[in-house]
Amino acid sequence: MRTPPRVLTGLFGHETNTFSQLPTTLAHFEDYLLAFGDDIPATVEGSVIEPAGVEDAAAELGWELLRSVVAWTTPSGRVARDAWDACAGHALETAAKAGQLDGVLFSMHGAMATVDHDDAEGEFLEQLRGVIGPDVPVAITLDLHANVTERMARHADIICAYRTYPHIDQAPTAKRAAKILDMAMKGEVRPVSHIARRDLLGGLDSGRTTVDNPMTELLARADKLEATDDGVLLVSVQAGFCPADLDEAGPTVVVCGDGHDTRFQAIAEDFMDHAWETRHYDSNEYLDVAGAMQRLVELPASDGPTGGPVVLADASDNPGSGAYGDSTFLLNGMIKAGLENAAFGTICDPDAAAHLVAAGEGATATLSLGGKVDATYGPPIDVTGTVVTVTDGSYLALGPRWGGTIQHLGATAVLRVGGIDVIVASKRLQCTELETFTHAGIDPREKDVVAVKSIHHFRAAYEPIARQVLIIDSGALATKDFGKLPYKNLRRPIFPLDLD
Ligand SMILES: [Zn+2]
Repeated sequence: MRTPPRVLTGLFGHETNTFSQLPTTLAHFEDYLLAFGDDIPATVEGSVIEPAGVEDAAAELGWELLRSVVAWTTPSGRVARDAWDACAGHALETAAKAGQLDGVLFSMHGAMATVDHDDAEGEFLEQLRGVIGPDVPVAITLDLHANVTERMARHADIICAYRTYPHIDQAPTAKRAAKILDMAMKGEVRPVSHIARRDLLGGLDSGRTTVDNPMTELLARADKLEATDDGVLLVSVQAGFCPADLDEAGPTVVVCGDGHDTRFQAIAEDFMDHAWETRHYDSNEYLDVAGAMQRLVELPASDGPTGGPVVLADASDNPGSGAYGDSTFLLNGMIKAGLENAAFGTICDPDAAAHLVAAGEGATATLSLGGKVDATYGPPIDVTGTVVTVTDGSYLALGPRWGGTIQHLGATAVLRVGGIDVIVASKRLQCTELETFTHAGIDPREKDVVAVKSIHHFRAAYEPIARQVLIIDSGALATKDFGKLPYKNLRRPIFPLDLD
């Protein structure tokens, strides 16, 4: 190994809902997070994301970084060729021009599909190996919801996934991977990935780490093994991403062992036995819209320990799972229930947002709202309201999930419909940050009811202010009823579609 060692790094992440009809183009990455080469340090400085952790680790460990790309965007349909060529292409080109490399530390989601590749990360890693050869140690960091394939495990010596959901350990995950990579580059260890799976599409309580459950049980076991077994370098537990029509979708465990050894495979299999045995466990109660409205009536006003709003989380229209973010099922239910002092974040409807922005603050507007992508998942509704606020939709996120990054809703208006302040946005974005509301002059702490389109990540910022959280499956694209999705490539039989 040279001094300092030269390490290729980058981030190219997307969680692809292959059932979404919305393509994911380079423009979507440009709208969210996209930087190349020398622009990367300034872009990620002060943020909580993996590349910031890589920068810290490189400084501590004395590495020379070869920075390629940093690209991330909201989950949606398959990644288009322009984005693949620009991001994966740039990383591969950087590797090809690098000459001798000592290591690779690359961050990915682990559930990306492109128009050409169902297993995009496996394809990327295979092409990278074609450039750098078989001997350079490759470390990857993954989302806790990665669908890890055999091909990914074959080409990545070190696989290191988040250990929190909500994901608030992104930079620390990069640092954990960096530590093992550094040992590998010095020849102190020889990391090998050992992967196990079962006939499972879901399970592990969807990976939640906010309650004691099968996931936290496995993560505790992983911590213990890493601390006590010299041969076990890392254990990564992935809950998988379900709306992905991929043969190998679903939960996996990867044990990164020091060398090939059947005992590492046995540990991975033992972990997956636990995932299989606990497959029915789900800590969420999913209410339909009528059930949620009824629950609101039954809840006493502000009786909780913290006061604050009841947070209604529509899991099924979560853009963070690739849903369209324009479903009206929940909003319509809230309007019909006549809720007062409520806020709704967000409904993505660029045409409606443009109309409201043009009308201006103080105007009264009547329009058709939401449901434009596919009315099956919540059709357009006719509403009349007052435009309270108009914004450009850009703000600095301050929460533990995306703190330090700029979020973009595009042209945005707050439309007051009855007692509900509805944030009408031009871009799809999971509502994980309080700033989604505060940037538009709405303080969610002061509301009685706050609706967000998110299944779990909202908890990082919203649970501390909520007196109650209700999880809703309103019937939008990211429904928990996977039987409604037309899988073709997924291995069968599988739980919960065929097996009990
Ligand atoms: Zn995730």
